[in-house]
Amino acid sequence: MVHEQSQHPLDVAIIGGGPAGLAAAVYLARFLRSVAVFDAGDPRARLIPRTHNCPGFPDGIGGEELLRRLRLQALSFGACMVETPVKTLGRTDDHFTLSTNAGTVSARYVILATGIVDRPPPIADAWAGVEAGLVRLCPVCDAYEARGRRIGVIGREITALKEAEFLRHFSSNVVMLFSHPDDASTATRSQASGAGIGLCDRTGEVVRLHDGFEVGKTDGTPPFRIDLLYAAMGCDVRSGLAAIVGANCDDHGYVLVGQHQETSVPRLYAIGDVVQALNQIAVGFGHAALAATDIHNALRHGDFPRPPAVR
Ligand SMILES: Cc1cc2nc3c(=O)[nH]c(=O)nc-3n(C[C@H](O)[C@H](O)[C@H](O)COP(=O)(O)OP(=O)(O)OC[C@H]3O[C@@H](n4cnc5c(N)ncnc54)[C@H](O)[C@@H]3O)c2cc1C
Repeated sequence: MVHEQSQHPLDVAIIGGGPAGLAAAVYLARFLRSVAVFDAGDPRARLIPRTHNCPGFPDGIGGEELLRRLRLQALSFGACMVETPVKTLGRTDDHFTLSTNAGTVSARYVILATGIVDRPPPIADAWAGVEAGLVRLCPVCDAYEARGRRIGVIGREITALKEAEFLRHFSSNVVMLFSHPDDASTATRSQASGAGIGLCDRTGEVVRLHDGFEVGKTDGTPPFRIDLLYAAMGCDVRSGLAAIVGANCDDHGYVLVGQHQETSVPRLYAIGDVVQALNQIAVGFGHAALAATDIHNALRHGDFPRPPAVR
């Protein structure tokens, strides 16, 4: 299949098979476009134990199951799935070249849906904690399920403070965990205290138990218990391929886009978490619909030239 495509450029190659990339594939396949999704196989969505804010699933749905359904939907309309990372991306005036372990493929349009990678908190078996729903990475996603619980927030000062303030709306028992008093400025302390947020600045080892965590202290005082640990450690944006073809990114590496998700490089689009927005499934779906429809219209009108709208 990949060999065939290398002789006849695809209409669209989607790089990344998470919710955003797969939703774009559904749209494009239904627009009767030749479209393939290239996926390296480690979507952030796979880490979701069960989402309860994804529209249309009142009982929630696990990340793996959501991905399975999206893949099935895209395949049913004729999209191709290629399970391989795209190693590099080249570009000429009228097409892109994707280099993969399965060969080289050309496509007239490319959608980048490569996502981000969360930095784990400094505790043993952090990813197992995420899987168990005890280590949390996204309060927008699941603060509702943390209502009234004892919550610890670990991370760098300002990010941790913002996250703790967000969570304080859902629980009166929120504490920021720092390892040293120098980790939090006077301003942070007073803002936290004004918001009713606790601050532990001699945090030792945080040990996961079957139903929460024991937070050790380095000042000889007794450990204490929390139910949930929110990590505010930041993330790494997977925008390397965008940079290779010269697309503009912000200081964090997020790909800059215009109102149809077009990047500063003609015929290159970016959707989902790799774009600076609310990192949410529903947002990725919205991006996907916008990008796919814009690409379809461009192809329909013979690639109408639109000057890149992004900075
Ligand atoms: C623990 C956790 C819980 C969450 N809960 C929720 C929730 O309840 N509700 C919600 O809306 N959101 C939730 N999120 C956020 C949600 O997972 C993301 O917003 C969503 O997965 C973003 O989709 P995406 O398609 O942009 O990226 P991803 O899902 O990360 O998919 C990106 C894909 O691109 C692939 N890729 C990267 N580089 C390449 C390459 N060079 N070649 C080929 N493939 C590549 C990766 O392998 C990956 O499969 C949660 C996230 C986490 C971590």
